[in-house]
Amino acid sequence: MGVTTAPPSPTPVFRPGTSPARLDFSSGIFEYAAAPESVRPGIADAYGLFIGGAFVDAQGGKRFATINPATDETLSEVAEASAKDVDRAVAAARDALPAWSALPGLERGKFMFRIARRIQERARELAVLETMDGGKPIKESRDVDIPLAAAHFFYHAGWADKLAYAFPGADPKPVGVCGQIIPWNFPLLMAAWKIAPALACGNTVVLKPAETTPLTALRLAEICAEVGLPAGVVNIITGAGETGAALVNHPGVDKIAFTGSTDVGKRIAKAVAGTDKALTLELGGKSANIIFEDASIDQAVEGIIEGIYFNQGHVCCAGSRLFVQESIADRVIAKLRDRLGTLRVGDPLDKNTDLGAINSPAQLDTIQRFLKLGRDEGATLHEVNGSALPDRGNWCRPSFFTGVQPSHAIARDEIFGPVLAVMTFRTPEEAIVRANNTPYGLAAGVWTDKGSKIFEVASKLDAGVVWLNTYNKFDPTSPFGGFKESGFGREGGRHGLRAYVRL
Ligand code: NAD
Ligand code: MN
Repeated sequence: MGVTTAPPSPTPVFRPGTSPARLDFSSGIFEYAAAPESVRPGIADAYGLFIGGAFVDAQGGKRFATINPATDETLSEVAEASAKDVDRAVAAARDALPAWSALPGLERGKFMFRIARRIQERARELAVLETMDGGKPIKESRDVDIPLAAAHFFYHAGWADKLAYAFPGADPKPVGVCGQIIPWNFPLLMAAWKIAPALACGNTVVLKPAETTPLTALRLAEICAEVGLPAGVVNIITGAGETGAALVNHPGVDKIAFTGSTDVGKRIAKAVAGTDKALTLELGGKSANIIFEDASIDQAVEGIIEGIYFNQGHVCCAGSRLFVQESIADRVIAKLRDRLGTLRVGDPLDKNTDLGAINSPAQLDTIQRFLKLGRDEGATLHEVNGSALPDRGNWCRPSFFTGVQPSHAIARDEIFGPVLAVMTFRTPEEAIVRANNTPYGLAAGVWTDKGSKIFEVASKLDAGVVWLNTYNKFDPTSPFGGFKESGFGREGGRHGLRAYVRL
């Protein structure tokens, strides 16, 4: 019987990183035409605070600008909540608490399903706004942030009438008024992570978004009003560290949930110690990706890229340390170089963009300080990405270091930018010891084809999340959170509900 085969392909097949000698990426052979997002959400010149179901001015009328970090343009001016405004917001949440917590879970769930549906219906507007205010690529806000934010409301809506099953034998009661403070790296998603479990469990909230990315949280406030959520159940107040501190110190708050830097987290832990406030902290990380010689190398390199360059490295669980088994180190580093060369840095609203703008000039300074420090300490910086950068805005091309010693700052400290520290190891034991040699314990990734090795290594890593042959994948059903200086408490899944009930 004859065998037919397909005729040879007339053009070379593009395999990322396999043949740099044949395909010169700098020649523009794979340049895409720009594909800018065409929707522009309406943005008001100014926004008030969302307190008691309505937008109100800050007392004293103070405002601050939120900018687009890709263009340096001011997008809007938002109200800066004073201690008095925090007091008003906490009072509104307190007033709303009895009725909201007495509402049958089924009814609370209905409001939450409506919020989830509205996020879906307004997804495109929210994605563009997220990208404009924070600088992340539109393909990430469109495909990750906004769908996951909706998913968190859907998931927790489902729990609202089933709490007795989440805590069998107990009688779960709400904690009360929750003060929630979130960072700028996943603005709407972090708001959803905080608000959804709180509402499901019958709590009311005062949420403070980060000062550089308040706009999608304010849209969420609009959505709460649109779906008829009772006034005061969700209050959203804008401001910076002082506003956050006023919320932390307010005696009318029953629980503080914070995501952000370890420094601020430690300050909050001190402020809350000795009060009867409950506390959960989700702090920084210096997570390790470990590649064994038996791993599928192309797949692993893609995962490493995803792990550290996703959202410009503005990810608390970014895989910022890479441990490669010595026997494959040269191959992995060569592939990493090739692949890094193909990433596109630039206009976050372009659908082709892989890395958008750095969130703020301050964060860019921090990253540049580490790039210099790494070189000064003797590591070798690989800057192989040649993307043309816009003239305005905050930009940083993706890069990695080799020749990294465990004592180097770039191997120990959280950089929160697109900078990877590559190190090698010989045995699994060495990989485990070195991966665990950090004050943090948020996440880790293990790349191997051997199932037994996966379970062995994963069980020995001090990390709240261990991804196996994948990285940076999130799901509302699975708990997320850290050990050691990465904080305590879990968000997502049944574990995440625990932080919002009294048993
Ligand atoms: P940050 O901790 O200063 O800010 C996070 C949130 O806390 C913001 O809403 C901020 O207004 C608020 N805040 C600041 N000071 C406060 C205080 N004293 N009391 C109460 N709330 C306060 O983080 P940042 O300045 O935005 O970023 C600095 C570093 O934090 C980054 O380089 C990174 O290492 C880390 N970070 C971590 C995450 C994370 O998801 N774990 C997110 C963003 C930033
Ligand atoms: Mn902004």
